[in-house]
Amino acid sequence: MIERSPAFKALKAGYLFPEIASRRKAFEASHPGIPVISLGIGNTTEPLTPHISEAMARYARGLSTREGYSGYGDEQGLSALRTKIAEVLYPGLADASEIFISDGAKCDIGRIQLLFGSQVRAAVQDPAYPVYVDGSVIIGSAQASLPSSEFYAGIVYMPCTAENGFFPDVSVVPENSLIYFCSPNNPTGAAATKKELSKLVDYALQKGCIIIFDAAYSAFIRDDSLPKSIYEVEGARKCAIEINSFSKPAGFTGVRLGWSVVPKNLCYADGTPLINDWNRIMTTVFNGASNIAQHGGLAALDTEGLKEMRSLTDFYLENARLIKKALQGPNFAEGGVRVYGADNAPYVWTQFPGRKSWEVFDRILQQCRIITTPGAGFGPSGESFIRFSAFGGRENVLEACRRLASFKLSDA
Ligand SMILES: *Cc1c(COP(=O)(O)O)cnc(C)c1O
Repeated sequence: MIERSPAFKALKAGYLFPEIASRRKAFEASHPGIPVISLGIGNTTEPLTPHISEAMARYARGLSTREGYSGYGDEQGLSALRTKIAEVLYPGLADASEIFISDGAKCDIGRIQLLFGSQVRAAVQDPAYPVYVDGSVIIGSAQASLPSSEFYAGIVYMPCTAENGFFPDVSVVPENSLIYFCSPNNPTGAAATKKELSKLVDYALQKGCIIIFDAAYSAFIRDDSLPKSIYEVEGARKCAIEINSFSKPAGFTGVRLGWSVVPKNLCYADGTPLINDWNRIMTTVFNGASNIAQHGGLAALDTEGLKEMRSLTDFYLENARLIKKALQGPNFAEGGVRVYGADNAPYVWTQFPGRKSWEVFDRILQQCRIITTPGAGFGPSGESFIRFSAFGGRENVLEACRRLASFKLSDA
């Protein structure tokens, strides 16, 4: 028989969400009655908005007519949508020909691994969204990199802690590495300032690194001084790929639509532009995003659609504010609990000094019947943290806040 790829043997079990689900199941079986509320998963809960969903419905109906039917489109995406994204989201920063439409940001991160192959080194923020690390391990690049970290030999972890304001010391990254960077961040909720991102970009330029900038939460930024795109930083067009998605701002987690930006100026060591290879990958192993979803994306970027996305993100940010306020209550302050994030991201990143993430997770589940995400599951620097997700209906969030008000960190 065929041997199993060594990469999969090296992969640490993707145990975080299955483990959460199994603890939830066990708890519910032994504690019937009052329902458990989930503030655990980063999945949207609010319905699609009217203008955007109507555009998709109209397009879908048209597909049943001879005039309105269309089959395969360009693998790079509908040219009207590429133009719209460039004009609305990257004015003066990127051209339509540099935008590639996709079925989502996570899928693009997976394909980016194909672009760089198994010999490239990778650095990630610690804690981080799991796909950067697991994708690198699957393709085998974890073995190729330096054996430097306690978590995965070969992947360089850049600790993001309360002490450094959740912006890492980038000087730990070896030259010629890929740097996965997510801002506003999942799970920490931190949004990097322009000065911080300039530091990252300058380092990448100096050391021959390429940044994979995950901007999936850019639409949650409310502080106008914070960059929404890496290309707002001088020099980024020479060292960064940006990926983004309609999943969180438009509730497209199930609809599926995202995009990547690969600037023409971004080149390999030998001077070849990356965009040529990215185009090759997208036209070879991808066959275009759903045409229905792309028409939803077009509607999302017109005046009415932008308004709808704004109110949807406002809604989740208000949830985040409510959760943050509950976690700043006297019962938490007493235990030294510190609360971060929530202002420009739908996550509240909460530190329980001296405790283990899983221990706190269990306590919150037992006492409040609330599912959270243990920070340790996102990387070693997540230990002692809990991620509260602001994706949820308002009634559930308010009820969760009421329950949190009587939470006790210690038995005494
Ligand atoms: C939700 C999320 C995405 C979005 O992924 P899609 O595949 O577009 O749904 C990307 N990056 C991060 C960090 C996320 O949390």
